Amino acid sequence: MTENIQEKIDILSLSLKELEESILQLGEKRFRAKQIWQWLHVKKVRNFDEMSNLSAQFRCELSDVFCIKSLIVAKRLASNIDNTVKYLYKLPDGNHIETVLMEYNHGYSLCVSTQVGCKMGCRFCASTIAGYKRNLSASEILIQLYETERDSGKKVSSIVLMGIGEPLDNFENVTRFLDILSDKDGNNMSLRHISLSTCGIVPKIYELADKNYGLTLSVSLHATTDEKRSEIMPVNDKYNINELITACKYYLSKTGRRISFEYALIDGVNDTIEQAKLLSKLIRGMQSHVNIIPVNKIKEREFTSSRKSAIRFQNLLTGLGVNATVRRTLGSDIDAACGQLRREYEV
Ligand code: SAH
Repeated sequence: MTENIQEKIDILSLSLKELEESILQLGEKRFRAKQIWQWLHVKKVRNFDEMSNLSAQFRCELSDVFCIKSLIVAKRLASNIDNTVKYLYKLPDGNHIETVLMEYNHGYSLCVSTQVGCKMGCRFCASTIAGYKRNLSASEILIQLYETERDSGKKVSSIVLMGIGEPLDNFENVTRFLDILSDKDGNNMSLRHISLSTCGIVPKIYELADKNYGLTLSVSLHATTDEKRSEIMPVNDKYNINELITACKYYLSKTGRRISFEYALIDGVNDTIEQAKLLSKLIRGMQSHVNIIPVNKIKEREFTSSRKSAIRFQNLLTGLGVNATVRRTLGSDIDAACGQLRREYEV
């Protein structure tokens, strides 16, 4: 089954225009592509046989040429405290990824993965420990949404690209995913409801800004001096804080969207008053917001923090005129830090 899938065209990764071209090549009329598109991205069927306004012969032909990728729920962890559900999904090639469904006042939000593993090597992050395996295709990012909506019966209204992987290290597939997700004739999600989180791949921040998607850029800053940041985030050796902040300012000027800075607070590493002062200096005058997250303990590392320390750091920042909040913890009873569930399953 798996080898068949690989030979066929991955239909959920195609744009409508590409699908039209493929359908014309099969000798069918262009409008058929739009019909198929709506089956895939509005009704979200998983099978060509369900496309009831197409002839049986055409449906058969379609399934010879294309495949509709799907995910298998390998594990589903539902919180007893709130409505958070963490999914471990098995991909068609046997790899695993994580997706998290969270309930907020304004609706449901989904945290999706963009790669199997990660190359970035952030010291506190579980996703990177076993290294990088491969990029996810656009369809594999998209079906995390479709499968989760189907499994949970909930309608997702916003998406955060904050699961396993570095989205800007998979730029082509991630932007393809965004284009498909927001297509007016398809799923039609406003890109203003999307946040993309990056560890700071500077040239790709410029490229993303030039696309002017209107999505929120979250930047994983986590430290305010190059020395400290390089200690915990190797990507800083390639693109330092100064270059990163300049790129953020460009993003802001191009899109008008305020930047969200992520700050995983780690006891004794980045929680001092000096760090708070440097942070306020770094982002002074910039339309931005700091999101403090007490570092999630992962079993391979000694890093710790607490909600109390996070509130203390928040007060320091607020006193310095910085717009800062402590991230609400959802699903704390099922909380395996991002990437940890996959690790436990695969090792
Ligand atoms: N690669 C992207 C997105 C995935 S990580 C990025 O680096 O932004 C999503 C967020 O979770 C990032 O801000 C990341 O730094 C943070 N994170 C990873 N491990 C964490 C941990 N153990 N505790 C708290 N935050 C963590």
